[in-house]
Amino acid sequence: MGLVGTGIPGRPFSALPVPIRRPLQTTHSLKKPIMTAPDELADFVRRLPKAELHLHIEGSLEPEMTFAKAAKHGIRLPYPSVDALRAAYDFRNLQSFLDLYYAGVEVLRDEEDFHDLTLAYLARAHADGVVHAEIFFDPQSHTARGIPFATLMTGLLSGIRAGRENFGISCFLILCFLRHLDADDAMRTLRAALPWKQHIIGVGLDSSELGHPPSNFADVFACARLEGFIPVAHAGEEGPPAYIHEALDILKAARIDHGVRAEEDPALCERLARERIPLTVCPLSNVKLAVFKQLAEHNLRRLLQAGLCITLNSDDPAYFGGYLGENYLATALALDLGEAELRLLARNSIEASFLPAGDKARWFQQLDRIHT
Ligand SMILES: [Zn+2]
Repeated sequence: MGLVGTGIPGRPFSALPVPIRRPLQTTHSLKKPIMTAPDELADFVRRLPKAELHLHIEGSLEPEMTFAKAAKHGIRLPYPSVDALRAAYDFRNLQSFLDLYYAGVEVLRDEEDFHDLTLAYLARAHADGVVHAEIFFDPQSHTARGIPFATLMTGLLSGIRAGRENFGISCFLILCFLRHLDADDAMRTLRAALPWKQHIIGVGLDSSELGHPPSNFADVFACARLEGFIPVAHAGEEGPPAYIHEALDILKAARIDHGVRAEEDPALCERLARERIPLTVCPLSNVKLAVFKQLAEHNLRRLLQAGLCITLNSDDPAYFGGYLGENYLATALALDLGEAELRLLARNSIEASFLPAGDKARWFQQLDRIHT
């Protein structure tokens, strides 16, 4: 990905890593050329009330916090500096990213660490105009290291409370099972989560996709549904459309995380559009993990135009070069998205959330009041 800054003379834009093809212009679906400069675009995107629905809290661990927590716990990191660690984020694919990701979480050990991690993300999301977040957490990454489930939960919940008090942002938790581990491990994790179930809205499936189809987790998802958890699943990122079918038909997923490979199966796309099953798409992640060579080649706009409920998200923002606002801006510039499409993405994110209907209606009204 070619990384360049952009801006207009005397008003430098941020150092956002945006592959610029040409200035933002009108689009087919945009009736008038409202936004011509990136800072106007950034301001408009920030003001749109948005939900983030695909965010791994462990993936918001910034190198600065990694070093601070390592110092606190007396952990020696295999990198001499924050910059050296950041430079190591040169992934070739999902697996090479995951190797670093799992190494990073080693520094998260007590309640305060999980509190700080959660609050730091919510502060950053709030700055981008996120009004509601549904965040994934990976208990197995922590319990396997001897961190008690209760330590993790109390830290996450206190971070969420602080986010609500400080920024007015609402936040739900979605427990993700690591699909590279077996279904028995997932079932043990589900049992450990039951005492906390009133604090966890759903269950998901993440980690290495290829070779680990959703059907491997049919039983644990069936149990989770009986316990009242809403099922979602990563599918169709590196894996084939068949994995999306399995997530829908076997796991009964209410949302598909990523799902961009649905485009290879027109009947599946029609079904996703007809049944209004949202996809939580993460464009900067997709480029960083080589799902698409560059952002300009991303299929988000085509999927949106095909009538799918597409939402935009940041996935693992500390590792993939941008939080939600940066994903909106970079994608808008690379795909020439206009005001109408950006509004639609924000609206879809509220619609696709698990917020109560009354809250959704309130955010829809607020969205309609936002003018360029
Ligand atoms: Zn993800």
